Amino acid sequence: MLVLPALSDMTFPLRIPILLAISFVGGTVARAQPQAPPNVVVILCDDVGWGDLGCYGATKTKTPNLDRLAAEGMRFTDAHASAAVCTPTRFSLLTGGYSWRRDAVGLNKGVANGDSPLLIPVGTTTLPGIMKKAGYRTGAVGKWHLGFGTSTPDYNQDLSPGPLEIGFDEFFGFPATNDRMPTVYVRGHRVVGLDPTDPIRCTYDAKRAAAEGLGKWAAGRGRIGFMSGGKAAFWKDEDIADTFTREAVGFIERNKEKPFFLYFAPHDVHPPTIPHPRFLGSTGLGNRADMLSELDWSVGEVMKALERLDLAKNTLVIFSSDNGATPTNENDHLPNGPWRGKKSQLWEGGHREPFIARWPGHIAAGKTSDDLVCLVDLSATAAAVTGQKLAEGDAPDSFNLLPILSGDPKALKRDSLIMMSGKGDLAIRQGQWKYFPDLALANGWDAGPKKPNQPANPGLFDLATDPGEKRNVFKDRPEIAKRLASLLAQQQTARSTRPATP
Ligand code: CA
Repeated sequence: MLVLPALSDMTFPLRIPILLAISFVGGTVARAQPQAPPNVVVILCDDVGWGDLGCYGATKTKTPNLDRLAAEGMRFTDAHASAAVCTPTRFSLLTGGYSWRRDAVGLNKGVANGDSPLLIPVGTTTLPGIMKKAGYRTGAVGKWHLGFGTSTPDYNQDLSPGPLEIGFDEFFGFPATNDRMPTVYVRGHRVVGLDPTDPIRCTYDAKRAAAEGLGKWAAGRGRIGFMSGGKAAFWKDEDIADTFTREAVGFIERNKEKPFFLYFAPHDVHPPTIPHPRFLGSTGLGNRADMLSELDWSVGEVMKALERLDLAKNTLVIFSSDNGATPTNENDHLPNGPWRGKKSQLWEGGHREPFIARWPGHIAAGKTSDDLVCLVDLSATAAAVTGQKLAEGDAPDSFNLLPILSGDPKALKRDSLIMMSGKGDLAIRQGQWKYFPDLALANGWDAGPKKPNQPANPGLFDLATDPGEKRNVFKDRPEIAKRLASLLAQQQTARSTRPATP
């Protein structure tokens, strides 16, 4: 089998760099035919750490499907979420821009609640929008966590604008997190199974909740937020993974004849950690690890569907997580691997993630890449996969990963990356160096309040010799600290860090 680049494809609205598959039989060309545009499936799980998967060195958890994905694709060791918590990472994945650039629209430095308006402005160039422009059918299944509507959403009415207004043709998921209200599924613009005689009232304002008699209890347990009503629409925690997986597979089945883009966002392994009974106790490490098995099963079901429909060979599957893990007592299992810190923190454990990409024939199987990459890079990658050039200002911080994935020795690679904590504080990485403007803020949610007039305590770490971020060399290498501080300031001010040629 020899694969050559083709010039164009006439069946889709835009020129797509389709590949010609030419079979050789007895040394002669037997046939040549254009290959269909690749499907793209992005699986973004929740709170899974770098060290949670077997293919990243875990020995106690069970992730055979993810390990197989890595064996058949490329595994990255230096991949990052752009933030150490859910909402801003999801924002940057879907827009190709750092979330802190978007202060003006009410984001983008922390975790959104279930009463948040839509946080991606309608009209923004988005990852699904890029795919849609190339003629793809686009779908989002799972955790949304980016708000609905233009103000506080009314869950009894149309939840618009939402995913369908920023590039997705289909949406099924829940509004925020599995520990946040309202505890209901949404399909398209509507809550699924809502009884109009039992309307949903939901707030995160304790005073309003007290005045209106809204409670902390929903779908069988205490949650973040306050609500009443909506009981017929409540999810069952144990069944969320089955429901999301069924919806993801259903989207693939419905759209098997067209090129499709699926953004599949499982709730696993975010707390409350309530796996389905068939996974409960399966690892002996506790509910979180059991949920990791459930996640692995979900990924396996999606892969099985692709294989059953003969789509696996022409589908780019990317798997990653939105932020690092919050370690629990898991019998010496280290969910963030060797990295310091955890979810919400600027230390590597907060945002260095598993990242696996599989695309048979295009990505060499079993390769490992140590290149610095980020989830914000998926938008420019999607544009490249579909042969589109991004306009100035689109996906402003996104680097095209396709050359790295295809093993191009001339690949233009990211050499710096800005990371954000759960409180919105920043650090910057360049090459082996990582600079913190103030180490007092590195612990994210666990950092105490900044004392007035307390001078900043800058940090500089050499990840090449000190991957555990233990030795602050700020005073030893002032010239490097100065260079990174200046780079951070410059990139914060600049409108874009994306290279001119994505
Ligand atoms: Ca998360």
